[in-house]
Amino acid sequence: MNLFDTSIEYLKGVGPQRGDLLRKELSIHKYGDLIHLFPNRYIDRTRYYKINQLQNNNSEVQIVGKIINIKTVEQGKGKTRLVATFVDETGQMELVWFQGHKWIRETLKLNTVYVIFGKVAQFGATFNMAHPEMELLQEHQASLRSAMQPVYPSTEKLTNKGISNKVVNKMMQQLFIETQSLFQETLPLYLIEELKLISKKEALFNIHFPKNQDMLAKAQFRLKFEELFFIQLQLITKNLIRKHKIKGHPFGLVGENFNDFYKNHLPFDLTNAQKRVLKEIRNDLGSNAQMNRLLQGDVGSGKTIVALMCMLLAKDNGFQSCLMAPTEILASQHFNGITELAKDLNITIKLLTGSTKTKERTLIHEALEAGSLDILIGTHALLEDKVKFKNLGLAIIDEQHRFGVEQRSKLWKKNAIPPHVLVMTATPIPRTLAMSLYGDLDISVIDELPPGRKAIQTVHRYDSNRLKVWKFLKDEIAKGRQIYIVYPLIQESETMDYKDLMDGYESISRDFPLPQYSISIVHGKMKPAEKEAEMKRFSEGKTNIMVATTVIEVGVNVPNASVMVIESAERFGLSQLHQLRGRVGRGAEQSYCILMTGFKLSNDTKTRLETMVRTNDGFEIAEVDLKLRGPGDIMGTQQSGVLNLQIADLVKDRDILQVARNYAMKLLKDDASMSKSEHQTLRTVFIEMSKKKNIWNYIS
Ligand code: ADP
Ligand code: MG
Repeated sequence: MNLFDTSIEYLKGVGPQRGDLLRKELSIHKYGDLIHLFPNRYIDRTRYYKINQLQNNNSEVQIVGKIINIKTVEQGKGKTRLVATFVDETGQMELVWFQGHKWIRETLKLNTVYVIFGKVAQFGATFNMAHPEMELLQEHQASLRSAMQPVYPSTEKLTNKGISNKVVNKMMQQLFIETQSLFQETLPLYLIEELKLISKKEALFNIHFPKNQDMLAKAQFRLKFEELFFIQLQLITKNLIRKHKIKGHPFGLVGENFNDFYKNHLPFDLTNAQKRVLKEIRNDLGSNAQMNRLLQGDVGSGKTIVALMCMLLAKDNGFQSCLMAPTEILASQHFNGITELAKDLNITIKLLTGSTKTKERTLIHEALEAGSLDILIGTHALLEDKVKFKNLGLAIIDEQHRFGVEQRSKLWKKNAIPPHVLVMTATPIPRTLAMSLYGDLDISVIDELPPGRKAIQTVHRYDSNRLKVWKFLKDEIAKGRQIYIVYPLIQESETMDYKDLMDGYESISRDFPLPQYSISIVHGKMKPAEKEAEMKRFSEGKTNIMVATTVIEVGVNVPNASVMVIESAERFGLSQLHQLRGRVGRGAEQSYCILMTGFKLSNDTKTRLETMVRTNDGFEIAEVDLKLRGPGDIMGTQQSGVLNLQIADLVKDRDILQVARNYAMKLLKDDASMSKSEHQTLRTVFIEMSKKKNIWNYIS
């Protein structure tokens, strides 16, 4: 039997009772589980503090000094505490015990040099440390095996039952003594060499007993890589199986339309990111399998032209395509934009939304079925049963968080062979990461903005400064710019939100009077046609200010609008604020985003606002968002198992994740069944891991 399958209670120093606790509290059943209990953090015990250097910041410190006096202090209700005066050459502090007095009194030596370790707190002018870890200086010097001391995950019960961090440390040492040098390498040799990884054995040793910072970093990298690599192997295997089952239309041709557009009608040079993404998509489309790809790119990164070029490929191969957007405004904006881009090409494009007139609608239906319509752009209206394509080859969905998975698959069901699916979103990492973890979709990222964009300047202003803000808006309008003023509209309190919006609109109308200024308003209660008309007035420059609810959150493109005022910004989530801000900064002018709030702000809100002011980087913002909202919120509760990772962190280690994913893909492309001789061990580990339930939890 493998030594690592040995039941944990047999480890010297554990026994049945502790074994039971370890099983219940930390799910440690075997030797192999204990070795994978990785430290949460490390304490740097190379540093010694002097008492006069202490700060009231609740950090853990170690100090060398002596106890000069011990006394028992009454605390009331018959309770006492033990207080010792501890000194070094720079000052004095107190050590406090609330329990175990008798034993401590008996063992502590006065006027003997100790190294104490623990958290300091300050009461009045005096620092104290409760329940310090104490070691005689001599012992300390002899026992210090690692300057970086691991701190292991624990539970209250474990600590109460005497399984302190020190005890876990001892167990770990014992484990290494009993199993030394028997750790099996799990990764293929060529991978270790190529990535300059340290061996499994070295990594496990250094994660528990780091020789130094450098070795710790190497150990962490190796183990994180390994964890993510095996998960990716599983996900990609699953994905491959799916692809095997679902055939797609191969778009083998890069023909007239694509080439003509690329050579003669590109309005600007594509960014490198756009080119790379197109290549990835073309690769998919050229294969026999159905594409199911997520195209992720920050607002303004230029996803639309990529979408068009994909649709041209479909046309070149004799297929129709469609583009579905979550709102009418967005759909018609896509329609206008794409029609403009494709104006010199010989393709037919139509718009279908809820407000398309019956006559026009019938014509569209007929043209679709006859195959004379190449591209259909629209809203949910595309999902209606009456909408039948002759040969839909590609479905593009913009801003996918508005559409559920079922809706996506409804598009699929329109054909015997499903179309290729491209989902476009501006929502950065967390979602992407989740998906890359779920393997549901392949992912392409446009991680570069078109050249020449000026960074949007963002400020936070209190409602009390409104006069100054209005003055600023007037100055910008005088320069010919246009302005968005956005109000929150959050479902639960819709009536109240609506009232806020109308009140706001009224006071704005008073402060920006006709005929000097003109104002548009768009909100959810308006009829689509009215909304459209108002949007149009604004985008044509006929109005200076657009007062709106979050209906303009996605996709609206008015390059001359250079100021975004967000009212009650404290009520918006970070990603929403970022999306809203993305409506400006689209033209050549310097753009601004002004976050208006009241005075009372929670800490989380302050963090959100500070983050917005500090950065325009969607990835950074998503990272903060993930921290604030917690993974459960972002990934959906039933998926929260995703974060049962042992060592890797999906957000912080996304670079490692990417590397792991790439290597896993390469490996499986070359050897899908992992049957080559260099993949023997890998295969064994893979199968073993796949049997364990916790790994399958990663996958829906
Ligand atoms: P989003 O990714 O938010 O949908 P869009 O496709 O609407 O972005 O593009 C935003 C703006 O940038 C549009 O006005 C578009 O014409 C312009 N654009 C896109 N790609 C480039 C590029 N490579 N160079 C210059 N401008 C570009
Ligand atoms: Mg867009």
